[in-house]
Amino acid sequence: MLAGRFAPSPSGSLHLGNLRTAFAAWLVAHQNEAKFFLRFEDLTTGAAPIAQAEQVHDLALLGLTHDGEVTRQSDRTALYAAAIKQLEQRGMTYDCYCSRREVREAAAAPHGAGAEGSYPRTCVKLTRAQVNEHKRAGRRPALRLHGSAGVHSGGLYTDDFVLRRADGVAAYNLAVVVDDADQGIDHVVRGDDLVETTPRQILLQHLLGYSTPSYLHVPLVVGPDGERLSKRHGAVGLLDLIPLGYTPEQILGWLAYSLGMTAEQTPITAKEAVGVFSVQNIPAEPWVFDPTRLRSE
Ligand code: GLU
Repeated sequence: MLAGRFAPSPSGSLHLGNLRTAFAAWLVAHQNEAKFFLRFEDLTTGAAPIAQAEQVHDLALLGLTHDGEVTRQSDRTALYAAAIKQLEQRGMTYDCYCSRREVREAAAAPHGAGAEGSYPRTCVKLTRAQVNEHKRAGRRPALRLHGSAGVHSGGLYTDDFVLRRADGVAAYNLAVVVDDADQGIDHVVRGDDLVETTPRQILLQHLLGYSTPSYLHVPLVVGPDGERLSKRHGAVGLLDLIPLGYTPEQILGWLAYSLGMTAEQTPITAKEAVGVFSVQNIPAEPWVFDPTRLRSE
């Protein structure tokens, strides 16, 4: 393996769920003596410099170092535009004027769409008159990948997902594929909330002539209510936990235990963890973290 990455959205500070995924990604890279890059997926959040600085600080505090410069998607829009243009020029795309609501409603209609939630291809064959009508109404189109593009290239089939949003911003699936290829990422470790995006990304890699990295999707961390961990659950980030007196090694110890590396939640450093980590031992179920437990310890 040559290079891995952690690609958070700078939408706030990292919580234990994000940190756990970052730790796993860092460990896979370090066990394989691969590079490990940090990339901010800031296309939809805006630059958010404070959140970025906090996230860099948190990762550094845990010893989850990264190689090279931090990259930001907002600096790389020309790369995304070039990839989109390639697909457009090959006739693999079409404009879509549907609003989110229209997509939702059409997908829910009987006989409407194929797979649940997939785009029902309403705009695949718009007449000139229909296009003009949308334009008169001031609608701007998103750009979708034409389904037949997938069938023609290795039989991968996904719905006609968005490549460029109506506001002109490259969609996540497109941007992440371009970035992973451009940075030579050959293994991706990320949260399993993204597992469903993977076929779309693999299809784009085929179409754009990129190689496909290996993928490892790590189960999420949930609160005691079974919901995905968030601030609402209490002290879930380093900004809360460090002032409570927990050390970075203690926190890494919880994460190491949760990743199946240790029998008990004993403090550990990131470097020490490299020797005991094994992908095979990561539990398949979400890890339940209960911040209310902290007070009584
Ligand atoms: N930005 C995504 C997230 O924060 C991760 C994307 C990826 O790893 O492909 O969940």
